[in-house]
Amino acid sequence: MRPVDLIRQKRDGAEHSPEEISALIQGFTRGNVPDYQMSAWLMAVLWRGLSNAETAALTDAMLRSGTVLDLADLPGVKVDKHSTGGVGDKTSLILAPIVAAGGLIVPMISGRGLGHTGGTLDKLEAIDGFNVNLSTAQFRRVLREAGCALIGQTAEFVPADRKMYALRDVTATVESPSLICASIMSKKLAEGIDALVLDVKTGSGAFMKRPQDAEQLANMMVETGRRMGKRMAALITDMDQPLGRAVGNSLEVAECLEILAGARHPLSEDLRSLSLELSAWMFRLGGRASGLDDGRKLAGELIANGKALAKFRQICRLQGAADPSRLPVAKFTSHYTAASDGFIARIQCEQVGLASLVLGAGRNKQDDVIDHAAGLELRKKTGHAVKAGEEIATLHYNDPARLPEALRLLREACRIGPNPPAGPRTLVKKIIESAPNLTPTPNLNPNPNPNPNPNPHESED
Ligand code: URA
Repeated sequence: MRPVDLIRQKRDGAEHSPEEISALIQGFTRGNVPDYQMSAWLMAVLWRGLSNAETAALTDAMLRSGTVLDLADLPGVKVDKHSTGGVGDKTSLILAPIVAAGGLIVPMISGRGLGHTGGTLDKLEAIDGFNVNLSTAQFRRVLREAGCALIGQTAEFVPADRKMYALRDVTATVESPSLICASIMSKKLAEGIDALVLDVKTGSGAFMKRPQDAEQLANMMVETGRRMGKRMAALITDMDQPLGRAVGNSLEVAECLEILAGARHPLSEDLRSLSLELSAWMFRLGGRASGLDDGRKLAGELIANGKALAKFRQICRLQGAADPSRLPVAKFTSHYTAASDGFIARIQCEQVGLASLVLGAGRNKQDDVIDHAAGLELRKKTGHAVKAGEEIATLHYNDPARLPEALRLLREACRIGPNPPAGPRTLVKKIIESAPNLTPTPNLNPNPNPNPNPNPHESED
């Protein structure tokens, strides 16, 4: 069938066969379908949507556009986690070594940060010497030795997504849930994994701000993975304030090292809880734990006995970094302080991410150079009492010209009210899974705010 016929079909709401989708994606990847036709098809998909079968077929066609890793020669279950991205979201650096130390294989291929959200690769590159650009052979070698490797995408990995994303970016078609699902799932499933845990963020710092959008995407990704024979679970989690207390690459790595070393900082408890929870799900789906309680216990033990930290050090060493605590430190620090007495009623999460970006920690465009030392550390989180003049955040930066804009963004982000917001906040809002007989996870509430609030979104402006 000609591309024009597929565009017409989709424009009129018809369903494509897997063969039609495969032919379109192959043709586009090889340069036989021009950008203008692909753009028209993407817009038709944005309007009409794709059925579950079409989304699975698109995911399959995209992942087969390049190298698909076959890790069958490595003994053990291969499991990964994907997050839709947030501010201070650094769980990968904690859970990957925990899960590998627990005996599963974690072949983690990640992306860079863009806009207000951070990326795993940027955090890893803050560590002196850490190489995320391994060849496939090197990646396998590290996986075989350590059970985990953390790298970026190579050129031969899902080229269809790279080409399609570039078009989506300039044709206002990024927002289609089916296209987002196929883009994420094709990259994850090309890793050759058996099971995948998704952390789908919702709230003011998330890609999907509304819980219903996060849930729709989570359902779609779980269903797509299930159709492709993978064990799947998705946790819909809170991103209405930064996760943990550090935002910015080297600061975030330091916070992860602290947690892996067993330290318990009250402002990092949400990060620690979520990392253990996601690890528990990975152990559960990977068959390493019979239930989530067992998985949580195992994850906690691997931190307490030092094995998770030792695993992280081993991964770092194998990827070129002698010492993960060798992190750049910014030349300057400043404080953002409270203008009045009261309680932190709200921290607009996206603004905090942008404040960190403005200090140098993030990028607006794909080729922007980032400053790994820049970022900020929260001293207070939602619900905490503050006095006028008390520090809410410490800003770290190398370029003083960037400070005023970052402070302005923080002033916009933090609202101090006379009363604490009604609480508690719920970290894990919903779980969607495809494997039968899994017990539901109780909601976690690591936030020290003691006030009951059935709807955390109501505390926003
Ligand atoms: N992240 C991806 O990898 N792809 C999308 O389409 C959106 C977010």
